[in-house]
Amino acid sequence: MRLSSTLARGLVELPEPPGPIGMYFCGPTVYARAHIGNARPYVVGSWYARWLRLRGYEVTLVHNITDVNDKIYEAAPGESAERARQATEWYLEDVARFGLDEVDHYPKATETIPEIVRFISDLIERDVAYEVEGDVYFRVAGQSDYGRLSGQKPDQVEEQEPNARKEDPRDFVLWKANKPEEDTWWDSPWGRGRPGWHIECSAMAEKLLGPSFEIHGGGLDLVFPHHENELAQSSALGHDFARIWMHNGMLRFTGEKMSKSVGNVETIQEVLEKWGRETTLLFFLTAHWHSPIDFSDERMESAQARADGLREVFRNPSQGAPAESWDRFEQILDDDFSTPGALAIMHEWRDHQLLRRALEVFGLASLAEDSVAPAEVDELARRRQEARAARDFAASDRLRGEIEAAGWEVRDEADAYRLVPKA
Ligand SMILES: [Zn+2]
Repeated sequence: MRLSSTLARGLVELPEPPGPIGMYFCGPTVYARAHIGNARPYVVGSWYARWLRLRGYEVTLVHNITDVNDKIYEAAPGESAERARQATEWYLEDVARFGLDEVDHYPKATETIPEIVRFISDLIERDVAYEVEGDVYFRVAGQSDYGRLSGQKPDQVEEQEPNARKEDPRDFVLWKANKPEEDTWWDSPWGRGRPGWHIECSAMAEKLLGPSFEIHGGGLDLVFPHHENELAQSSALGHDFARIWMHNGMLRFTGEKMSKSVGNVETIQEVLEKWGRETTLLFFLTAHWHSPIDFSDERMESAQARADGLREVFRNPSQGAPAESWDRFEQILDDDFSTPGALAIMHEWRDHQLLRRALEVFGLASLAEDSVAPAEVDELARRRQEARAARDFAASDRLRGEIEAAGWEVRDEADAYRLVPKA
């Protein structure tokens, strides 16, 4: 079982099952309906957790909510806490619609303040952080391996949040003194204020997964400064923190039709309303998690056609697949979790049982369940029901045989029947 890691700049072997595998995937900053791009780390993290669980691992999946942040103060002046609460609800509602349900904890930054304050105090005690007028900054100088995740040399690190109070332009903020326009704050040894973004994630991850865990995920745009700083904070306390860094490629809006029709379809909610859960999941399956993925009407139409193709398999008789089919599927997912590779194999399969089992991995078993029988099979079932009503059991048995030969199973229910694809 191996996975490519930004930190290792290559593939890293996972421990043998059962692990345990702690997974921390950065979640959204909540101030509005979440963008469809935010769904990618959620979906990829959930799928991978599900796959590891199926392969015998003990997994804990954490997906945080950043509910205190400049963006929230700007979006809802004077009522930032209420906006954050509302937008958290929206996000949880939106992602629940994917039907994946693998996340164990959704910690919120505002519910982790004591741990954050303790973390910052420990950094000050070790002299890697310093206070200036109620702000606390992390001292980048002296961290010889700072930059190892994003690949920057310590003496050439980009300036972060320019500010004259810092000792060094590379330093980043851990605690921000309260400003008059900010309507939420917490007391701390440095006065009223609120945490910086990066320290929140170090504290939430370590609170739930301990100082050393296997996988940290999130969008590729988080490598610097967010994840570089998380790693620096935790390393400065002597913690291993995450071993594997699983950064998903960004979602890009492309396609000719984009400007006209997709233009206003950008949130998770809008995409799910327009295209549905199955098509959206299939869309995410088509690209490798570490590659960018292009969102357009054309790409969504093609995902829809794939969903239809898979549904169609269950409307036809099941055809056995070679014995080693599942092994091939496993190998391709075990090797850096190549979902496009797995999808290509699934499109070859006509074996209902095998395909349903594979679809289940990605939350798509519904493609097998909601299939509608072809008209001619339905006609056979209708005639069988008449034969039964007339107590002509020989004809009824013969018709059941014909229905089964067409790949369907007829189930009698009170005065009706139901056709389900034969397993
Ligand atoms: Zn984070």
